[in-house]
Amino acid sequence: MKFVDEYRDPATITALARRICAEASRRWTLMEVCGGQTHAILASGLDAMIESAVELLHGPGCPVCVTPIETLDRALALATLPDVTLCSFGDMLRVPGSRGDLFGARARGADVRVVYSPLDAVRFAAAHPERRVVFLAVGFETTVPPVAAAARFARMRELENFFLLTSHVRVPPALEAILSAPGMRIDAFLAAGHVCTIMGTAEYEPIVARHRVPIVATGFEPLDILEGVLLAIRQLERGAARVEIQYRRAVRPEGNPAARALVDEVFEIADRPWRGIGVVPGGGLALRESWRAVDAERAFAELASVSAQEPPECRAGDVLRGVLRPPQCPVFGSRCTPESPLGAPMVSSEGACAAYYRYRPVEALEALT
Ligand code: SF4
Repeated sequence: MKFVDEYRDPATITALARRICAEASRRWTLMEVCGGQTHAILASGLDAMIESAVELLHGPGCPVCVTPIETLDRALALATLPDVTLCSFGDMLRVPGSRGDLFGARARGADVRVVYSPLDAVRFAAAHPERRVVFLAVGFETTVPPVAAAARFARMRELENFFLLTSHVRVPPALEAILSAPGMRIDAFLAAGHVCTIMGTAEYEPIVARHRVPIVATGFEPLDILEGVLLAIRQLERGAARVEIQYRRAVRPEGNPAARALVDEVFEIADRPWRGIGVVPGGGLALRESWRAVDAERAFAELASVSAQEPPECRAGDVLRGVLRPPQCPVFGSRCTPESPLGAPMVSSEGACAAYYRYRPVEALEALT
């Protein structure tokens, strides 16, 4: 497949891994930010190939994983209202809130629908004026432009029955929070290439300048990831720290100006709680005052009383900060499995716990013995 196979060529992967090991004078600690990168690393065994040169820590870049449990409980509360249709992407339906998940609510009769675009939810609202339609909008900067477009589309069609329950998060403040945490031991980051495709790389410049940690905007195929590692290591070996772009076929320093303008029209930067991590200053986006008509938090008084507690057994916060490897969680593979998850990282297709469960069955078994 064009643009895929050439980035998975085994001979080139082996050669690049050898070069990384040859160029590293010591073992460096790198964090890949995105859960998609984590899955590619574990599926391809890249971490084992460069083990002598690099320790790869898995970062917080799984949007489903960092969505606060309160947001899930709010979505569940809305879904149980008789005149509400709750729309979302499919991977949110199995994420546990404190009282079950959206699949369970649907099984009990709630009108919960999977859509492939926020615009589908707007079209549904237009076709069903008797329903109040709420789109559960979560994710990193990559997923925000279509949500902003949906808000605009609903306004254009003068719909009064379309709402957004939003929990969008921003990557750079999370990296700042990780770097500022006590005991931080990360030498460099592989930033998420798709986020940089939208937002560009300028927001990382002050972080690099403040912490002297290289950040390389990196893609998702095995060769992308290894090239990102090599670029980071070359900087570390010569004592440099700068923002660099590996994912050149998609990322420009300025990002996508049209998408950024659309996001800026509808959303503003806000403090946001990250599941398992806590409130990250500037770590999310909130609807601007001028878009309050579509804000589900304002439209539904029922949401004011919703509060939730994380399950105490789940160590998702430690996993998302790279402090704990999933098999080290005491309930990994026993009380917490993809069929019966305690936390979002075991559910999501980008979750680190799900990645270890799927690709590292031996480690999973060892954790149990
Ligand atoms: S294994 Fe399960 S309980 Fe443990 S951190 Fe991962 S999701 Fe949470």
